[in-house]
Amino acid sequence: MKAFMDLHTHSLAAGHAYSTLLENIDAALAVGIRYLGMSEHGPTSPGGPHEFFFSNYKVIPREYDREELSGRVVPVTGGRLHLLCGVEANICDADGKLDLEERYLQKMDYALASIHPFAFTAGSRKENTLASVRAFQNPYVKILGHPDDGRFPLDYEELVREAKQAHVALEVNNSSLNPRSSRQGGRENIIELLKTCMKYEQPVIMGTDSHMCFAIGKFVETEQLMRELDFPTELVLNYAPENIHKLINITL
Ligand SMILES: [Zn+2]
Ligand SMILES: [Zn+2]
Repeated sequence: MKAFMDLHTHSLAAGHAYSTLLENIDAALAVGIRYLGMSEHGPTSPGGPHEFFFSNYKVIPREYDREELSGRVVPVTGGRLHLLCGVEANICDADGKLDLEERYLQKMDYALASIHPFAFTAGSRKENTLASVRAFQNPYVKILGHPDDGRFPLDYEELVREAKQAHVALEVNNSSLNPRSSRQGGRENIIELLKTCMKYEQPVIMGTDSHMCFAIGKFVETEQLMRELDFPTELVLNYAPENIHKLINITL
């Protein structure tokens, strides 16, 4: 199966990522990604972008391809790659409050919402789950990022049932499967998440969470785990380009 989207990527603007947006686009084109999402960390991330970063997306062209003679990446109407401009907003408290106000969210293509240790104080399993559910009930949030971190345990039955109701995709984060990830118990938690998604036929989206261009569009560890679990490919949004319209309400 071929993945056509990677909606969880970071660039230099994150403060702890190492490629430019143009390098990310180049890498995405090289592996056949059609929908690349720039999901920069929200403003409470140390070293991350100021809110103004998210209000200037209007200057960024949205369609790209390679120039025939030089092979350089250029903006082209009708190009093979569509760029979506979003945010990985921080979930800040038990009410699911995000670190970016509606006036910014409403201008961008989509938001992921994630729990990170620098913005959220871990509570009980019930409290972490409630914070996540309330965050994705925000209509601008389309994806819950890396719900797999053992430092913030979640009730997967509750999470998946609520995600289904809210029509939100749960992310299977490829970088959480890296043994060097700072998240804890990623593999075990993702297995439980995937099994629960199978039970409720809840779609997932694979995200690389790339912090350098070489990782973009590559889901090797995730796909291997999904094969081991016989996870149905129909529930993986990345495999059909038209699924972008199920996820995000934009005309492309
Ligand atoms: Zn994250
Ligand atoms: Zn991320």
